[in-house]
Amino acid sequence: MKRKIPSFIQMYESFIKIPTISSEKKTIDQSNKVLIDLLANYFSELNFLIQIINIPNTNKFNMLSSLGIGNGGLLFSGHTDTVDFDENAWTKDPFKLTKKDDKLYGLGVVDMKGFFAFLLDVISSINIKKLKKPIYILATANEETDMSGARYFSQSTNIKPDCIIIGEPTSLKLIKAHKGHISYKIDIIGNTGHSSNPSNGINSIEIAYEVIKNLIDLKKYLQQNYSHQDFSISYPTMNLGSINGGNAINRICSLCSITFEIRPIPKLNLKTLEILLKEKLKKINKKWPNRIFLKNLFFSVPAYEISKKHKIVQKIENFCKIESTTANYCTEAPFLNKIAPTLILGPGSIDQAHYPDEYLHCSFIEPTKNILKQLIIKFCC
Ligand SMILES: [Zn+2]
Repeated sequence: MKRKIPSFIQMYESFIKIPTISSEKKTIDQSNKVLIDLLANYFSELNFLIQIINIPNTNKFNMLSSLGIGNGGLLFSGHTDTVDFDENAWTKDPFKLTKKDDKLYGLGVVDMKGFFAFLLDVISSINIKKLKKPIYILATANEETDMSGARYFSQSTNIKPDCIIIGEPTSLKLIKAHKGHISYKIDIIGNTGHSSNPSNGINSIEIAYEVIKNLIDLKKYLQQNYSHQDFSISYPTMNLGSINGGNAINRICSLCSITFEIRPIPKLNLKTLEILLKEKLKKINKKWPNRIFLKNLFFSVPAYEISKKHKIVQKIENFCKIESTTANYCTEAPFLNKIAPTLILGPGSIDQAHYPDEYLHCSFIEPTKNILKQLIIKFCC
């Protein structure tokens, strides 16, 4: 039978060629519509039914495609966007798939447009007449910024697959848990004045000193009270990322800003974390009313975990002959898990994601195709 879709490498090339950068900066942020349309074309060639879903009030889209009918089945999910790239640091064209030294280079080769080329290639080799349960493919938008694609999809869909696999680059390890991420800025407003008379003003750097002391207390509290032995760093971490304040040696500093992030483990939810943080700042707030302003930076992602004892986890561990483990990066799993039990498993290493000259080592190609094929056959055929 004549193959209806291009070769694996041709499809890979066609995905890398389309820029789909997500960024907080409006001038850099791009729509993913062209890539979504191309994916829709390829999957419809394989007889999938296609749904293209606009994320309200944006130029971003999700695609859900499905093959076969009935209950349950398997959903593979990937995000269509990439991060921005540093032109000076890349030695290759980020939008051209380049093969060199047994590696495929390009922006999104592992994180994670390439995953769709794997799926298309594997599904085209399967006898779909044997399908007993549906296969779904979800292509999401904006994973690299606010995860609005996965958030919107999980709120609006009514499909109920048995399991979801997110194909982020896990080096083909099966990930059942990861840490979350939340980041903040604290602005401290003092009153400026000439330094020769301290009673002229209120020095925001001195208030910042008290704030930092309390943040470090919280950091220690989290480390001592929360632990998860499956993680290489077993406790929630906090990092003070930046501090800015003051502009002259003889002026009382009126504005000082601190940014920091916290990476919670599962069992420490974002709400609890926020309560603990606000509790820590309460005393200083009382002493310095209306001078300390806490705000969220970016979008936060909760930590994620599915129990190792969950029957789906055990099933996939058996099918793939691998043990599930944990990761330190965030994924869309906390949102997609609202639809079905979610695991993360994909080709290439996370060490290459978001780095110049991102590459997929070709040694991942055949094992990935085999694992995906086994998963589809065992789950859906
Ligand atoms: Zn990713």
